[in-house]
Amino acid sequence: MSATGSRFVTITEVGTRDGFQAEKEQISVADKVAVIDALIDAGLRSVEATSFVSPRALPQLADAADVMAQVQRKPGVKLAVLVPNARGAERAAAAKADVMVGFISASESHCKTNLNKTIDEAIADFAQVVPIANQWGIQMHGGLATAFGCPFEGDVPINNILKIVGAYHAHGIRRIGFGDTTGMATPPVVTRTVEAVRNKFPDVQIALHFHNTRGVGLANVMNGLQLGVLEYESSIAGLGGCPFAPGATGNICTEDLVYLLHECGYETGIDLDKLILVAKEVEKIVGRQLPGQMMKAGPRLKLMSTASVRTAVG
Ligand code: ZN
Repeated sequence: MSATGSRFVTITEVGTRDGFQAEKEQISVADKVAVIDALIDAGLRSVEATSFVSPRALPQLADAADVMAQVQRKPGVKLAVLVPNARGAERAAAAKADVMVGFISASESHCKTNLNKTIDEAIADFAQVVPIANQWGIQMHGGLATAFGCPFEGDVPINNILKIVGAYHAHGIRRIGFGDTTGMATPPVVTRTVEAVRNKFPDVQIALHFHNTRGVGLANVMNGLQLGVLEYESSIAGLGGCPFAPGATGNICTEDLVYLLHECGYETGIDLDKLILVAKEVEKIVGRQLPGQMMKAGPRLKLMSTASVRTAVG
């Protein structure tokens, strides 16, 4: 049982943004749309579909407007997009995004490498997104990258995190995602970050975004659940990485996360069997094996018939 007593965990799927953006081979609009549609059919109600960053900086997501135009829209399903600045926000509004997500790196060096600006400049750029989102009546979420560590700096100063959260908060944003861009989170790092944010901003709704770079992604989720955090971001089949962060590998895997949550008695509204089929399709699209475990082994009580298994000797 979480600290709040609720048993529902919200999962935001980020595979078609965080995952696909790291793929070198261009993925077709049709394949991206098919994956998002299938995820929604499997029960996902929050999907970070794409990113309105500069097409020159990220050619893989240059088709963001086409993807948004073609995906199915269903009542109750929110399609979120990343927006770094006013230009991205204008494009996101034209594409009828349901949610605009800001992203600012909590480390100065990662901010410089990823966004080519200082944290203060990134905060100022995001301020220009706010009136555009308000004008169109589009919900805004805040996002922090490298919130649990930076490959260039190590642990990030908690004051950087509080400064960025404070800036989002001042714009009226209450849902903020903390991204473990390069997989440096461990349970103690998560605990101290969540507690520091809660102490200063008790009304912020925290979402945790883990990568499984060092194999402790789901351990971090278990820790988050114990802290009462009921919102997580993950990628179908464990897609993911960050083109600007050396050594960054996949996000925690959505179907593995759903399996864990259901086994622990949480509800997600997601059909695990359908999700596993989507993960297998995603493997075909990228043309290689992906890290997700559930699509390989299946849920633990999905029993095999003894006749279907050859006995290994030795
Ligand atoms: Zn990520």
